[in-house]
Amino acid sequence: MYSDENLLMISALQHLAFCERQCALIHLEQQWEENRHTVLGELLHERVHAGEKESRGDCISIRSLRLVSYRLGLTGQADLVEFQRSIPGKGASLPGRDGQWLPYPVEYKKGKPKADNIDEVQLCAQALCLEEQLSVKIPEGALFYGAKKRRHPVSFSPELRKQTEDLAGRLHELIHSGKTPPADYSSKCKSCSLVEVCQPKWNEMMKRTRYEELLFTEDE
Ligand code: SF4
Repeated sequence: MYSDENLLMISALQHLAFCERQCALIHLEQQWEENRHTVLGELLHERVHAGEKESRGDCISIRSLRLVSYRLGLTGQADLVEFQRSIPGKGASLPGRDGQWLPYPVEYKKGKPKADNIDEVQLCAQALCLEEQLSVKIPEGALFYGAKKRRHPVSFSPELRKQTEDLAGRLHELIHSGKTPPADYSSKCKSCSLVEVCQPKWNEMMKRTRYEELLFTEDE
């Protein structure tokens, strides 16, 4: 179990899955650069978090809910959690409310669904936090994409849970090591907000120069 001082942000999972160097630059070296993608994402989240608690029939919507898992060492904030009235034994008790309520996390994303499943991993991390906080089992949540303007249900399968837990473990290893990995230039560098800070081509060039030096030395 982790303590409060060792908790890491759920959002770091996304940085880690994208590029370990980017994750270390942000979460170890506190480097951050805005680009079009990050600004659009922040604007969307501001609009979501500006909302209030709403209650409609058998559903209570709570925005900006703080999340924590001491088992995974993660913390963050849910865009929206809908608590849907559940049958006894399947949900959690809520202060000032009768009955039991099953949480359904909803994460807002700009753009459209990605080729990888990192958005699902981030949502699953939220669900794992809620499960630990409320002692419930959450089968499903949803991602809402701005470009599509509709929800995509996400099932929290055993495979997705394992992937999320493994990534959380790797995140702690990376941060605990205190070391920023070297750059590895690839197509994703073009959309990276830290490309100017990282200078991946320069790093690649230095690596090549070093190999050439070694070859030259061996030839001698
Ligand atoms: S520029 Fe490329 S190597 Fe550097 S942090 Fe971004 S994705 Fe990683």
